[in-house]
Amino acid sequence: MVRRPHPPADPRHARLIEGLKAQGVTDAAVLNAIATTPRDLFTPELFQERAFEDQALPIACGQTISQPYIVGMMTQALRIEKRSRVLEIGTGSGYQTTILSKLSRLVYSVERYRTLMSAAEDRFRQLGLTNVITRFGDGGQGWPEQAPFDRVMVTAAAPDVPRALLAQLKPNGVLVAPVGRGPVQDLNRYVGDGEDGFTVETLAEVRFVPLLDGVAKDS
Ligand code: SAH
Repeated sequence: MVRRPHPPADPRHARLIEGLKAQGVTDAAVLNAIATTPRDLFTPELFQERAFEDQALPIACGQTISQPYIVGMMTQALRIEKRSRVLEIGTGSGYQTTILSKLSRLVYSVERYRTLMSAAEDRFRQLGLTNVITRFGDGGQGWPEQAPFDRVMVTAAAPDVPRALLAQLKPNGVLVAPVGRGPVQDLNRYVGDGEDGFTVETLAEVRFVPLLDGVAKDS
């Protein structure tokens, strides 16, 4: 039996979900994951009042928590299955990670700022998530020890999709990433053809912070 998701108790959160549906986030499991994830927990004190607006917001280390519509659209585009092992690059606040964790078997998430990583880990503990594994490191290198992955989501923009990440995808896997040099990038989806190749589609235009090389010093 598929249970009908309850609308969130907070009316601002319920309105946010209605807005996502209207914009084309229609996958019930994705909507349910967003509806059961308290975005205020991931939002800095200063922006609490805006936690349920459909906007990206600043977090520590000059980074951002993604816009809920973009999170919904990218998660839907990834076509996650319950058994999927997912690699996420750019943990940030941990908001997107939490949504992925509700839809998949295991999430491996890499972040280059220690500060962000440990704040996100605290949130995962608070929410009782048991299927998220984090790593401080350069996500451009992926996570070779745990590869291959069924799904890869990149939440920072690179001029080209990192080869290491495509190489760590299973033959029928799916990778979603913002790709481009400027402030506006293409959101691309790479779908494995079962052998060594991929088909690539551009799904939307997006604005992400850059994927930077190496780990942040004094972070
Ligand atoms: N999905 C996050 C948004 C993250 S913003 C959220 O919902 O909160 C992008 C994140 O990618 C930032 O935290 C940034 O520090 C991280 N990042 C950038 N380059 C990286 C790299 N090479 N390896 C790992 N993380 C990286």
